[in-house]
Amino acid sequence: MSEEKLIFEKGAPGRRAATFPALDVPALDEAAWLPEALRRGAPPDLPEVGEQDLVRHYTRLSQRNIGIDTQIYPLGSCTMKYNPKVNEDVASRDGFRNVHPLQPDSTVQGALAVLWEMERWLAEIAGMPAVCLQPSAGAQGELTALLVCRAYHDSKGRRPRTVLVPDSSHGTNPASAAFCGYRVETVPSRADGTVDLADLRPRITPDVACLMMTNPNTVGVFERDVRAIADLLHDVDAQLYYDGANLNAICGVARPGDMGCDMMHFNVHKTFSTPHGGGGPGAGPIAVKEHLRPFLPVPRVRRGSDGTFSLDHGEPLSIGRVRSHTGNFGILLRGLVYLRSFGGDGLPEIARRAVLNANYLLSRLKGRFDAPYGARCMHEFVLSLSRQKRERGVSALDYAKRLADYGYHAPTVYFPLIVPEALMVEPVETEAKETLDALAEVLGAIDAEDPSALHAAPVNTPVGRLDEVGAARNPVLRWKR
Ligand SMILES: *Cc1c(COP(=O)(O)O)cnc(C)c1O
Repeated sequence: MSEEKLIFEKGAPGRRAATFPALDVPALDEAAWLPEALRRGAPPDLPEVGEQDLVRHYTRLSQRNIGIDTQIYPLGSCTMKYNPKVNEDVASRDGFRNVHPLQPDSTVQGALAVLWEMERWLAEIAGMPAVCLQPSAGAQGELTALLVCRAYHDSKGRRPRTVLVPDSSHGTNPASAAFCGYRVETVPSRADGTVDLADLRPRITPDVACLMMTNPNTVGVFERDVRAIADLLHDVDAQLYYDGANLNAICGVARPGDMGCDMMHFNVHKTFSTPHGGGGPGAGPIAVKEHLRPFLPVPRVRRGSDGTFSLDHGEPLSIGRVRSHTGNFGILLRGLVYLRSFGGDGLPEIARRAVLNANYLLSRLKGRFDAPYGARCMHEFVLSLSRQKRERGVSALDYAKRLADYGYHAPTVYFPLIVPEALMVEPVETEAKETLDALAEVLGAIDAEDPSALHAAPVNTPVGRLDEVGAARNPVLRWKR
């Protein structure tokens, strides 16, 4: 593959990708309307590239990517399923794309109806009556819900300081709790990957504000004791948080609210099909039970008795805003299109197929790779490559890099932290059997390859193995001439 120069290194002065008709109105006198301090003197140093070169540049770059539109993307704990093009079609309609968040409510009734309807869908899926769509990501949803939890305890005149987090949890859970000012106490998992009730019991004291649970947890196992755990917490009025980032396994089949959970977040950009990766964009709405509703962020979307919608800024106990306006509208809209495409009756199909696909792939791989949490799973599973490391001297990272040579995005590696040489796979519900078979065969082929091929990988990609530590410690994110 040939070297692709940066866009800044291409073109020549005066080249343009578009031509405009001659100006037929008087030109603006910059000096007359732009304050002195904001004037740059010279125009910004932008690339000057012809249209054909521009299109080819970005088309070539896009082809170097391993993306969901070209190949399965089996990232565990980060559900990456296909992004139906109908979502994009609806989101790009003028009536949605061109509305402004500061327009008067009466002129954006359709957009408010979208938000209101999305809240209703998520409330039903959660089994919790109140939803706030504002947070822009899962992590921000966690923080928002914890702020709501803190406001709830405050309202009762108490200040519990501890949040309990199982050791298999996503890293954002302890981070959000710490960010919210809580002391994080890690709860160890049993050998089967679930929370140990006997170990948990003495930890639940009046100093506990909440426990953050992922269910099924990140090793793909359902926490059967969830109701008992909820009861123990509720005895001291501590709250049970449900991390619903990857809701595929239970969507439309079981509801966190019915399991005894008090609050949760969703990742619309995982479970409900909207694109993510590269840091955005996202939407991490939260749902809460009735006793937490008064503390939700404002503004809230209201529907009047005459059917019209409005934004209500006036909740006295609200924690306030956590983001500008009403959330990441375009992402929420895409999620709503996905939900409506399935319809209420179709939702359980998401869960059934996600669990079936994961179990099928696990059954194809478990003969060759060690599956420390058993032969059955929910929507994802974790393999351990410890034996390969010991016997062949190849690591989970080597397998991940070699997969890129075959054109596959790697599964999640080295997470959860409790599994040595972890390879965490989530095929999702939208993949066909042939695709799962092909992935299983490639993983098997890599397992039979000479270790030197794995150590050298990737060799068929535009760049070889990168210095990831160097990239993280000394990121060069800006082009300078
Ligand atoms: C992705 C994920 C999060 C965090 O979501 P972001 O949108 O990346 O902030 C939290 N918990 C789990 C289990 C996740 O998979």
